[in-house]
Amino acid sequence: MLDVVAAALFPLRCPGCGRPAEPVCADCAQTMARPAAAAPPRGVDAWCAPFSYEGVARELVARVKYRHARAATPWLAAAMVTTLEEHGLGDVDVVTWPPTTPARRRRRGFDHSEVLAGEVARRIHRPAAAVLVRRGGDAQTGRPAALRRRGGPQFVATASPARVLLVDDVTTTGATLSAAAVALRLRGARWVGAVTAARTPSLR
Ligand SMILES: [Zn+2]
Repeated sequence: MLDVVAAALFPLRCPGCGRPAEPVCADCAQTMARPAAAAPPRGVDAWCAPFSYEGVARELVARVKYRHARAATPWLAAAMVTTLEEHGLGDVDVVTWPPTTPARRRRRGFDHSEVLAGEVARRIHRPAAAVLVRRGGDAQTGRPAALRRRGGPQFVATASPARVLLVDDVTTTGATLSAAAVALRLRGARWVGAVTAARTPSLR
């Protein structure tokens, strides 16, 4: 039943123009804007993202969360790696991700951030490792920005090498990346970079 619903929600069509294409047609890919420059959130040394979180990019990021439209994941990962290389941020010891909530992982059957991190790690020839554990905090989506800033998720790092790259699908307030970076630093990380598929302007 869920398979049928997912297939109906996300047929193999370009989210920009509706023509058959997976995950996005070349014309609409050209329209995807870069995010505005912004200082990284607290605890993060440098960050980058290939796309502004709007329009087609927003649709593609949504697809990463659903099994049946997974072509978006390698496509976005490839764009993330290109941006990483442009910014010179790929020289890291390990790639990791802020884990989603256990409830969401159970519901979807996988952690979309973990899958995205694995795709990025493979492309930059670095290991991906689960070193962050979520402690309390609610899922970010659907909560007002003010609430997100006050009571974002908290993480504990079980280990951390010196240079870590955080991977996530999207960042809005930067609160999740910041919380993850702080946890990694408490475990000994000396440099924390972050790459997301999309980014909205900082709300500070
Ligand atoms: Zn299109």
